[in-house]
Amino acid sequence: FKLNINDLLTLKNLGSGNSGTVSKILHIPTQKIMAKKVIPIDSETVIQAQIIRELRILHECRSPYIIEFYGAFINNNNTIVICMEYCNCGSLDKILSLSPNGQFPLPILKKLAFSILSGLSYLYTTHKIIHRDIKPSNVLMSHKGEFKLCDFGVSRELNNSIAMADTFVGTSTYMSPERIQGLTYGVKSDVWSMGLMLIELASGKPVWYEDTKSTGPEGILDLLQRIVNETPPSLTNKVNPITKTAYDPSLCQFIDFCLIKDDNVRKSPSELLDDTEGFLKGTIEGLFDKDVKVWAKGIRKLLKDKSENDK
Ligand code: ADP
Ligand code: MG
Repeated sequence: FKLNINDLLTLKNLGSGNSGTVSKILHIPTQKIMAKKVIPIDSETVIQAQIIRELRILHECRSPYIIEFYGAFINNNNTIVICMEYCNCGSLDKILSLSPNGQFPLPILKKLAFSILSGLSYLYTTHKIIHRDIKPSNVLMSHKGEFKLCDFGVSRELNNSIAMADTFVGTSTYMSPERIQGLTYGVKSDVWSMGLMLIELASGKPVWYEDTKSTGPEGILDLLQRIVNETPPSLTNKVNPITKTAYDPSLCQFIDFCLIKDDNVRKSPSELLDDTEGFLKGTIEGLFDKDVKVWAKGIRKLLKDKSENDK
């Protein structure tokens, strides 16, 4: 079906990031709930048309680990509107702030890592797409406990149009050393970002938290230099500040593999999935699906209570 701005009823705001604003909407003709992302762009009409053409590849991305794409169009000559599957538990950054202890339990981390790697591997092997922006706010969870990727960079023109606005837009603390250095970067750069994310979700603290508090270009440049020069972050031999115990050894080892600085040595998503005896053992058989389902149900309830309180 063709999407039309007049058919979309906005229900609530879900948040905004560097590139745009996301809201929950109802598509009136089909009565389907969707998420709508509005991205302001001030590029020429030909470029806008090119962006819409490039986004069409998203129609072909079908995987349980990828947010479904419903369509995109240009509105008022100055915004790109993207409609996609709505995920009712929201993104992992918000879920983390609601989680008991402020941390993700081990079974959840296992299913999450498996889902992200499956999504990345699907995008890359089937469509040659690299995600480029793996971070907690770009991984969503459904009430059934499924994890799905969104916001991957398929449109070069769209990236250009957004990046033009501000040089530091798109600079993120989840960026891999090879990307910061402007060297070849590929699907393994997403693995680095996932490794950082797993540390954050397991410990409850973003890896570069102390550093990002000092804002401004100098702070960011300084930090990027540290990512390139320092030994990579790790949970090995660290004590969990909440439980006062060591982190699971297989989790620590898995994260250490993801955060190998040399991308020639770091494994790709499909190579990591091939190791079915380590951290990911049992995930392909769905061993943790039930745990995640129960956990997602709890999160869903907390979200509902929260929105009741907000009223
Ligand atoms: P960022 O990812 O940098 O936070 P975005 O503009 O991509 O910025 O998204 C804003 C927020 O909207 C996200 O943090 C997420 O919580 C929410 N969001 C994005 N897409 C969806 C979706 N499909 N379903 C539910 N929530 C979403
Ligand atoms: Mg996003």
